[in-house]
Amino acid sequence: MPCNRPDCDGQLIVFAVREDTGRTVPYDAEPVDVDHVGSTGCHVLIEGKAWNPVRLAEHFQVVFELPSIDRAHQLVREYQHHRPHLHLTTNTEGERP
Ligand SMILES: [Zn+2]
Repeated sequence: MPCNRPDCDGQLIVFAVREDTGRTVPYDAEPVDVDHVGSTGCHVLIEGKAWNPVRLAEHFQVVFELPSIDRAHQLVREYQHHRPHLHLTTNTEGERP
């Protein structure tokens, strides 16, 4: 869906529920390329849930019974990472992640 803020000019966003806080926050619909920009500040969106990549790796290690956390991190990188959609100038409504 397009963002309704005029300064965003209809930039596409998606909403997801943060796994840690349970809050619904907007993300840029376009996933980031973690190989180029890294995953810092980004979250992994899976089925409407937004995961901190570190938390997700720990989660994967448990549910998939992975032998190492490194393997879990590799797995996390295969998922799409999205940057939170923030309005830095006039952020009175909406929630910051
Ligand atoms: Zn916006």
